[in-house]
Amino acid sequence: MAVRIRPLVGRELRDANKRICIESHAEENKLQIGDKMFGFDRVFDTYAYQEDIFDICSRNLILGCFSGYNATILAYGQTGSGKTHTMGTGSTVGLPQEQIGIVPRVFDFIFQEVENRRRQSEFSEFSIKVQFLELYGDDIHDLLDPGVIDKATGQTTKVLQIREEKNGSISVSGLKAELVNSKAECVQLLNRGIAHRVTSSTLMNEGSSRSHAIFTVTIDQKIVKVTQPPEGEQPAEGTEPVTSEENISAKFHFVDLAGSERIKKTGASGKTL
Ligand code: ADP
Repeated sequence: MAVRIRPLVGRELRDANKRICIESHAEENKLQIGDKMFGFDRVFDTYAYQEDIFDICSRNLILGCFSGYNATILAYGQTGSGKTHTMGTGSTVGLPQEQIGIVPRVFDFIFQEVENRRRQSEFSEFSIKVQFLELYGDDIHDLLDPGVIDKATGQTTKVLQIREEKNGSISVSGLKAELVNSKAECVQLLNRGIAHRVTSSTLMNEGSSRSHAIFTVTIDQKIVKVTQPPEGEQPAEGTEPVTSEENISAKFHFVDLAGSERIKKTGASGKTL
């Protein structure tokens, strides 16, 4: 768990009585509020670079996905604390490179890795798919394929069900998975999904602050290994090189949580919470 302290912005800067109430001890990964100290795996101060946050918090998780480990990244904090800025789930149009957040950097890195790995082994096949869902109350909506939305109620005709398989794995049946071949396609689908969220949130009045969204990238790999004869030896006549095939699949989830301060106001408790 990493914590990031954002700098004062906008109106806060113009406030004559402004002060930052958090003292950071980034080198010890601690921060101080009043006389209380809090420890984290990592503390990023107000001057932290987006690139460093990506490198430290997500690079290894993506590499892990290429080895078959699932990973999830989520930002938690009250509205205005810097979740969108850090995750990079807002629009990237006109944004300077250094301001770009984690999500577009992850897309970039995944496709760079695919290219690198393809170059290393011409037999490897990769398939990258994305899914995007929204959890609002007890309903799950498909943000890439929302179905027909009733303008009056904001309700959609397509409501998905969570299924628990016999082997314990959890899936959302009917959730659309789109095949992607580039970072640009990922960004386009992310934006398409966000647009569907915005539409429903204006209809449902402050919906976005009470809805959670999960954007999932699935990386499927088929790696064909060809075992060559030891160096210097010629293969015996008529023998074929030995090949073996390995299939690796992993999911990378980005979770956009509803503003945590709103949870209290929704009155949700127990199972609903
Ligand atoms: P949230 O998504 O948690 O509601 P935002 O990401 O929208 O919060 O951040 C609120 C404001 O603070 C935005 O104007 C954003 O650009 C700015 N901001 C957040 N974090 C930083 C940062 N590390 N450096 C500069 N500005 C930031």
